[in-house]
Amino acid sequence: MSQGILVINAGSSSIKFAVFGNGDHSEPELRVKGQIEGLAGDPAFQVKNSEGHTIDRHNGWPHGVALSHADALRFILGWLRENMGQTEIVAAGHRVVHGGLVYDQAVRIDAKVIADLDQLAPLAPLHQPHNLAAIRALAEIAPDLPQVACFDTAFHRSQPRVAQLFALPRKLLDSGVRRYGFHGLSYEYIAHKLPEYAPNAKRVVVAHLGSGASMCAIRDGRSVESTMGFTTVDGLPMGTRTGGMDPGVVLYLMQDRGYDVKAIEKLLYKESGLIGLSGVSNDMRDLLCSDDPHAAEAVDVFVYHVLKYTGALTAVLGGLDALVFTAGIGENSPQIRERVCSKLEWLGIRLDEAANAQGGPLISTADSAVPAWVIPTNEESMIALHTRRVLR
Ligand code: ADP
Repeated sequence: MSQGILVINAGSSSIKFAVFGNGDHSEPELRVKGQIEGLAGDPAFQVKNSEGHTIDRHNGWPHGVALSHADALRFILGWLRENMGQTEIVAAGHRVVHGGLVYDQAVRIDAKVIADLDQLAPLAPLHQPHNLAAIRALAEIAPDLPQVACFDTAFHRSQPRVAQLFALPRKLLDSGVRRYGFHGLSYEYIAHKLPEYAPNAKRVVVAHLGSGASMCAIRDGRSVESTMGFTTVDGLPMGTRTGGMDPGVVLYLMQDRGYDVKAIEKLLYKESGLIGLSGVSNDMRDLLCSDDPHAAEAVDVFVYHVLKYTGALTAVLGGLDALVFTAGIGENSPQIRERVCSKLEWLGIRLDEAANAQGGPLISTADSAVPAWVIPTNEESMIALHTRRVLR
């Protein structure tokens, strides 16, 4: 019998999970990775082995049935018992979007932690309640299983105070209305991994370009600035989110165009970004092969903002020793990387087209003053690492 750590990333309509070995490797060893999608209706379960090959599927639930987080976790634990009987799950690590000002590292979950995280739910209403639902459900299903919360905000707690403050009245700042930053588990993984590639890189900009997208300035392995702030809607335009926008637009839409809070939320989080601009798709792959001019313009706006923030983050760092691309678009789209890097020659980045086409890891030429890298992120592995550390 060997030991395993269960990693859980619970959202509104899906639960993603992975099992890692509980050995001593610096990179936890993945055993399986899977998900149940469609919790609100027509659920589908899929699981892959460590090589990425699908080893099982299930979608035999009655048509239209919805699963609660508890139902889904019971199914996942049942599957693990039946199919991985030789692996004893000794702990569960959860991705939790918001740790507020208090949690600057992963923490063992108890009643006090749950109460604290509940209080933060209004700061991340689209994610935090679902993260907590899975934690509560698992506590009921397996009360003796230690659970650990790993936060998307924690890595950014090292940011200097000036980076965290909005220019708002003190009483609002003191009550927690601040810039937090997200995608922290991804950035922490890259910071943990980068020394293997570029041991001397001290000032690093990481572009996490996925359907959610943000960028982070890292100095000496610690976050000093990020493009997401109080919520996950700030910064870069994303698949369906606006990115940073003049808050006066929100006032105008509410005062003169009849938008209420729900309509604003839908607009900012679901109807904007690449889908809003293109009217075609929120998926960069679709936009890159579309001949619709609005699709091309959506890509232009996306690339423009990546460039703009690369400049801003480089200024914060006082120079740049490495640029890193990661996440779905960053890892898989040579075109987007090419479009960004070709406009960064002023910064000393010279793209190696062949290396870029092959996906790197190094995608800049030998004489590039600043190297550019593609490093696949692995938030689940980071959660497994934290969980192991907290357990011990
Ligand atoms: P998230 O974790 O935020 O859901 P991912 O990091 O998985 O997102 O990124 C998903 C996005 O990556 C997709 O929406 C798609 O736009 C983009 N993507 C994946 N592969 C490619 C590719 N080959 N070219 C361009 N974009 C891609």
